[in-house]
Parts: sequence; structure tokens; C-alpha cells
Amino acid sequence: MAVVEIKRSGDIAVVTMDHPPVNALSQAVRTGLQEAAKELGGDAAIRAVVITGAGRCFSAGADITEFGGAPRQPPLYQLIHDIEALGRPVVAAMHGTSLGGGFEIALGCHYRIADKGAKMGLPEVKIGLIPGAGGTQRLPRAVGVAAALDMIVSGNPIDAATAHKAGLVDRIATGELLADAIAYARELADSGAKPRRLSERAIGEAPADLFEKKRASLGRHPSGKVAPNACIDAAEAATKLPFAEGMKRELELFGHCYKSPEARALWHVFFAERAAAVIPDIGPEVKPRKVESVGVIGAGTMGQGIAMSFVNAGIPVTVVETAQEALDRGFAKMRETFESAAQRGRMSEADAKARFARLSPSLSLDELKDKDLIIEAVFESMKIKKEVFGKLDAIAKHGAVLASNTSTLDVDEIARSTSRPGDVLGMHFFSPANIMRLLEVVRGAKSDKDVVATAMGLAKRIGKVAVLSGVCDGFIGNRMLASYGPEAQALALEGAAPSQIDKAITDWGLAMGPFAMGDLAGLDVGWRIRQERALSNERKMQYAVNDKICEMGRFGQKTGRGFYIYEKGSRTPKADPEVEAMYVEEAKRQGITRRAISGEEIVERLLFQLVNSGAELLGEGIALRASDIDTVYVNGYGFPAWRGGPMWSGDVIGLKTVVEKMHAYEKAHGPRFTPAPLLAKLASEGKSFNEGK
Ligand code: NAD
Repeated sequence: MAVVEIKRSGDIAVVTMDHPPVNALSQAVRTGLQEAAKELGGDAAIRAVVITGAGRCFSAGADITEFGGAPRQPPLYQLIHDIEALGRPVVAAMHGTSLGGGFEIALGCHYRIADKGAKMGLPEVKIGLIPGAGGTQRLPRAVGVAAALDMIVSGNPIDAATAHKAGLVDRIATGELLADAIAYARELADSGAKPRRLSERAIGEAPADLFEKKRASLGRHPSGKVAPNACIDAAEAATKLPFAEGMKRELELFGHCYKSPEARALWHVFFAERAAAVIPDIGPEVKPRKVESVGVIGAGTMGQGIAMSFVNAGIPVTVVETAQEALDRGFAKMRETFESAAQRGRMSEADAKARFARLSPSLSLDELKDKDLIIEAVFESMKIKKEVFGKLDAIAKHGAVLASNTSTLDVDEIARSTSRPGDVLGMHFFSPANIMRLLEVVRGAKSDKDVVATAMGLAKRIGKVAVLSGVCDGFIGNRMLASYGPEAQALALEGAAPSQIDKAITDWGLAMGPFAMGDLAGLDVGWRIRQERALSNERKMQYAVNDKICEMGRFGQKTGRGFYIYEKGSRTPKADPEVEAMYVEEAKRQGITRRAISGEEIVERLLFQLVNSGAELLGEGIALRASDIDTVYVNGYGFPAWRGGPMWSGDVIGLKTVVEKMHAYEKAHGPRFTPAPLLAKLASEGKSFNEGK
């Protein structure tokens, strides 16, 4: 079957891209479109052309699986040029999404009609690129320079109504899109309308400082620096150069981005997220269980966020607490969250009300007896969790999925408190759970395959990225944090101030440093956990100042003081000389000679701890693949996507170099820098994590 089809409706030709699932612009589609342009260009009987997409959208853009290889003919910009050059009006009929190259095709058409639910934009920046088929030159001519700049640099799509208002879309379809598009094309032909080419349109005025201001505002763009700056350069070129010259500049900038390490890292993150959904021993023959109703136990921080995640996706939730007061508090907080989202224009008031209305409060676990999925989010205590699961075992219907949101406890032990361990697994959400995209699905030794498949599939439905983890202390993300956190403490004892450590790692790209992150999460959490565990001497010494800070009642942001000071109502950390002095004093007590520590050493030591514990997780089979670990860190721990994640970063440095440097640190700091067996093995074989697992 042809991926591009031409049908004639009298004197109007309809060109349909038909390449499921999203009409990605593969080589075959590009060739088909180019041939269609050629054929129709020579057909005098045709008075106007409609270009449209079959299935769920117009086109979601480039076929990213072609990335990295040698360029394949024809290039998209060339065929868009051919479409634009046609001598009869060409109308783009857009439904679903028109993204990237798909949207650039629509910009190459002379007129545009969209379904009212259509969305369109140029998200190339999100994968480290710029639009490379005229998008940066045509969009500013269509909507004005400032609006185009916002769309290109953010990569965010706009809806049909906004596009219509901006003059980007000429009409919104009132009936069936294709019928309306054909009628529109005929109307244009009848009225003698000429091709209206954006490439020939004069570009509007832009404020003189527009581009400089945009460059200055980039800050911590999730795609790093290369692509966002190139987006601005390309749009600026549109205002300074004739169209053809601007196209050349766009291509040059595209080539520069295409070769950048940032783009490679962002493609890795893109593919890693998709790969995470695949579990080798759970094929499509394993059917997930149906989940239409959910129960959440506990209306605390996590219970609230989890419940909101489900009602946001249209799934009703019953939330159970032990006391009316706790229930009221939780519901008041959730109502406030929805109301403030409506006030900030994130959703309509009616939508906020509808979402809240899907929540039902309850003081009785019995009310969960008919729920398809029950997620426990009570205090982090094995005794309490076992009690809750014991009761659930007696109450929950046959086939219900029973999940725990524990961050540290043994899911297998929890499962053993029921008579149906196959139905039990961990669903580890991250705080705030209604916002954070990451979900670690923790597979117990006895979890049934369809139970795991249910949790993985559900994650997608509620807009999360799920990563499978085996059972271990901290699962993937927090287990790695358990070596990263102490390393930060060691650095502070050896001579770097907390603010210097945080600055080094945030300059490198992380959203937050370890000290600011501790203050945000609450230092008391880790302190309580440490008190319950038998810690090694080394750990005790590393955490000495941290513990003292907690003993002083300084738990971080919530108490106004932690490693930093927070002025009333502020979340901005201010360095505290008192804390710095505590590190100096403790270092003296431990006989550590303090010294100046470079930013490079700080970043290396912190990163290598992540890489090494990631290698342990892979070696133990807790994580399925290195890219899963990267997905966890990028989506749950503020690791910059443009660095690809910790394991990708290790690969970029080269595992041989990582191991050599770790051996040097091992000499100075001992076995916590001994490379994990898998890391040592891959390094000696000259392999990377990406190839090795
Ligand atoms: P929280 O103290 O805010 O809330 C716990 C709630 O559970 C309280 O409202 C309490 O009244 C209720 N509760 C206790 N026993 C109950 C019972 N038997 N039946 C019904 N309700 C009961 O705690 P949290 O931060 O929401 O943490 C909950 C769980 O989520 C813990 O296992 C924690 O480790 C895990 N977790 C927390 C975070 C986080 O950042 N806070 C992140 C991931 C996972």
C-alpha cells in the first residue's frame, strides 16, 4: 500500500499521507509527497490541492529512527519547496497533531484549515535540534517574529483556536475536516485565489532587542544551550536575510545542532523512555487487568498527589484515612490545588470542579472492596503496612491489584502479609505525585506478570513514565542517591562549602544540588531512616554534621533552616556560616585536613557515585537496562536531559576513563570508589553501558 495517495474529487486533488501510527515523515512518505507534487504540477485539470493525513493526525514530524544515519533523499526542505512552488492553491487540512516536519509541510502549503481539536508546533528543540525544513523562516512570516520565536524556542505546540487568532490557520472546520477542506479548496479555485507563499511574504518588524532578550532569558533550558541558541539565531536570520539565504543559514544551524552531544543525549532520552515500557518476559500476550476505579489509603502528601494523578486522567478515586481530621486536611489540600490550577489558567474552573468531584473520602477500608487497584500510601513503617495489607487481603475483590508506595521497604515482605502475593507490587510515585512524571514500578518476586503489565500500562494512562525496578533498598533512584548524598557530605568535610558543591553540580546542569535538595525533601526523613539502620563507620562520619543539624531541629525548608537559611515565605537558600563552621569543626575532630576542592572534582565524585551504583543495579538485575536508570534520573531527580542521564554521561566520558579516575579516587578515599564488577568489565572490554546492557 502506498504511504502517500492521490485521489481526485473532480478538479480538486487530495493528497493523503497514510503511514500509521502518526504519519512520520519517513523516506517513503517524503518520496511519495515529492512525487505527488510532481504529478499534480503537471496535471492541468487540477485546480487546487488538499494535503491531509490519514488516521489520528496530520503528521507528527520526522521519523526519529532515521536519526544518526547518513541523510536519505529527498530532504524534507526540498519537497516542501516543491509543494510551495505549485501553481495552484494548496490547502493543508490539519487534525490531531501537526508537529515538526509535519507542521513545516503545512507552512509550505498556501492555505490552512484545521479541526478544532488540532494542535501544531515545532518541538525540534526538545530533541536538541532546530526546525530544519523552513520552519524558522516561514513561521515568523506567518505569525510575527516574537510569537514564532516563543514557539520555536519553547517547542510547545499551540491549539487551533490560538493558531486561528494568529492568522496561522485560515479556517477552523465546522463539519468533517476533509469535506470542509475540499470545499475550501474549491472556493479558492472558484474565486481565482493564487498560491499564497509564506516564502514570498515580507517579514514583520521585531523589537531591536528581541533576540538579545530571548538569549538572556534562556537560563536553564531543558535542552541545554546549543539548540535553543540556534533556534534564536535562525529566527534572527529570517529577519535579516532574504528567504533563500535564511534557508541556507537554517540548514547550517541544523547541521551544527545535529552533530552536537546535546542532541545525541536528548535522542537517547527520547528512546530510553520508550524502551522502558518494554519488559522482556512480558509480551503482548499478557493482558493487563482492567482498572476503572482506584482506592488510595492515606491522605498525606503522597496519597493526595497519587489520588490527584488518577482523577486528572478521569479515573475516580476513593481515599481512605484513619481519622476525619486527616481526611479533611487531605481533601482541603487537594481542593486548594485544583482551585489554584484553575486560577492560574491551567484548567477551566468547571474542569477543576469535575476533577475534585471524582474524589470520594472514606474512613473505612471496606469501601475499597470493589476497587480494581488499591494503592497504599500510609506511614513508612513495615508494621503498619503489613497490617494494612493483611486487612486488604480480607476486603479487596478477587483480581484487584494491590500496590504499595513505599520508598524503602521490602515489597516481598509486604506481599507475604497477604494470601495473594501475585497481586502485590510497588508503585513508587515521586513527590509531588500529581506533577512528577516518574513512576518506579517495583516487581516483587511473586508479582504476577499481568499485575506488572497493569501498572506499566496505567502509568501511561495517567501521563507518567514508568520504569521497572526489582526489589532492593531504595529501588533504582533512591538506592543511587544513597551513595551520592554521602559523597556530598564527604566533600563538605574535606573543604567545599555546601553552596560551592551545589553550585558546581547545578552549573554542570542538575536542577538542584544535594544540599538544597535535602532541604527541600526534609532532612528529618533520612535522619529517621539512619537511626533505624546499622550504618558503617564511614557513613556515620560522613553524616555527622547532617545529624547534628537535625538534632538542632533544622529540617530544611519546612523549618526555615537546614543546610541553608530560608527567609520567611522564601524558597531561596542562603548560605549559613554556622553550618560551614560545623563542617570545619567536624573535619578537625575527624582529623581531616581541609583543602580547596575544584568544581571538576566535585562533579566527578558525585557523578561517579551515581554511575557506579547504577552499574551495581544493572549487575544485580534490579534495573533492566542502563537507559532505564537514565530515565529514572532525568524524570525524577532533576538530571539534565541534555546530558542524557548518569549512565549516558559515563558513556560519554568513556568507561575506561571513568574507571581510571575512580581508581585514583579509590586511592585517596577507599573502597567506595572501587568500580562495580560490571563497570570494570565493560571498561576492560572497551564497551559502553549502552552497548553492554
Ligand atoms: P504522610 O505522613 O504525609 O501521610 C501518611 C498518611 O497516612 C497520614 O495522613 C496518615 O494519617 C495516614 N495513615 C497512616 N496509617 C493509616 C492507615 N492504617 N489507614 C489509612 N491511613 C493511614 O506520608 P507521605 O509522605 O505521604 O508518605 C506515605 C508513603 O509514601 C510512605 O510509605 C513514604 O515512604 C512513601 N513516599 C513518600 C515520598 C515523599 O516524598 N514524601 C515519596 C515517595 C514515597
